[in-house]
Amino acid sequence: MFLDLKKFKSKNMQKLLLIALSFIFITAANSQNTKCVTTETWKKYQEKNPSAEARKQELEKFTKKWIEGKQTKINGQVISIPVVVHVIYYYDEDNISDEQIYSQIDVLNEDFRLLNSDSLDENHPFWFNTADSEIEFCLANVDPFGNLTDGITRTYTDSVEFIDRDNLKFSASGGEDNWDPNSYLNFWVFPLSNGLLGYATFPSDLNANPELDGVVVSTSAFGTFGNLNPSNNLGRTATHEVGHWLNLRHIWGDDFCGDDFVGDTKPAEEANYNCPSFPHRDFNSCGTNENGEMFMNYMDYVDDACMNMFTFGQVDRMWATLSSSRVDLLSSIGCDDVSDIQEFTSNNFKLYPNPNCGQFTIEFIEKTSNLEILDILGKQVFFLKDNNELSVKIDLTSKIKSGTYFIRSLDSKNNKLHKLVIK
Ligand SMILES: [Zn+2]
Repeated sequence: MFLDLKKFKSKNMQKLLLIALSFIFITAANSQNTKCVTTETWKKYQEKNPSAEARKQELEKFTKKWIEGKQTKINGQVISIPVVVHVIYYYDEDNISDEQIYSQIDVLNEDFRLLNSDSLDENHPFWFNTADSEIEFCLANVDPFGNLTDGITRTYTDSVEFIDRDNLKFSASGGEDNWDPNSYLNFWVFPLSNGLLGYATFPSDLNANPELDGVVVSTSAFGTFGNLNPSNNLGRTATHEVGHWLNLRHIWGDDFCGDDFVGDTKPAEEANYNCPSFPHRDFNSCGTNENGEMFMNYMDYVDDACMNMFTFGQVDRMWATLSSSRVDLLSSIGCDDVSDIQEFTSNNFKLYPNPNCGQFTIEFIEKTSNLEILDILGKQVFFLKDNNELSVKIDLTSKIKSGTYFIRSLDSKNNKLHKLVIK
């Protein structure tokens, strides 16, 4: 904005104009602060749920111990977290395309695996801190009921705005219920108001309020494809919010020189915005050196194009979370590829639905006499002998527990094992 004050001849007019301008700038600064309201949402939640603070402290204690004890994960162990994206819309244009959703999953996989093309080069002083989290994301293949899914739900709402924002997390109030948060990362995508880009729940509240668990991202900041804010068009809002969901704090610890409980991020006075040039706030009042603050960290507030890294310390916190509050994600079958048994890839049968609750149907292309189901240790738990039917309904609900099993024909030359999942 360019204004020539001299054009306003009266000094009083100039003063009034300056007051008005400073009001505009303060308002603009405040609107910048609403970029992510994870901390604010948690504080409001904590007012209603006083035990939330103790739960947070408890997880913090575990995290510290886990990291100090170097109980780091097995090197090279990569987890793929099943994702479901709940698109909530009133206007058709907010019912975003599959491509926009795919572009967001791609960004998460690049950013969390340090495959992002804008990562720091090896001459940068912070390059040594850049870390591959070995966490990946996939749109779920299997829904909580064991049915095949594309990992996307679409819900029309008659609300252009949810007065209580969390209402978008509930079907009863016009939104969409989350899927089992122990097994899925739930995203809700909705046009948030007042420039807000997103917010997430912390893992310490998962058990107490599973129905709230997940990440909310504004439609205009989700993915890299579609009608996006120019400053938030690289999918980094979701990267930042998933960081919170895995127990990361803002880089400035939500306080002046606050603590983010990570050793290898640099102390920061407060949030950074836009696109600072390096070094930024060198020798700041909380004790940075000549390299200044790590504003390019995903847990700061800079524009998407200017953030590009997690640190090793942040990765440790995420894995401490995956070893405690969110440990069930490690055994989620949401990303399993079950297509090989949905189709006639076996020479002579198909089984559906898969996964299932112990009741399923086997259809044979030709009459087959013998077929067996094995548990994960190879022990036979079911044997279909001298079958004479083209279609057989089987009920094992009272005979076998939930888990992964294998099924194979004993008559075909191609007696390949196929995965069968009982929920
Ligand atoms: Zn945040």
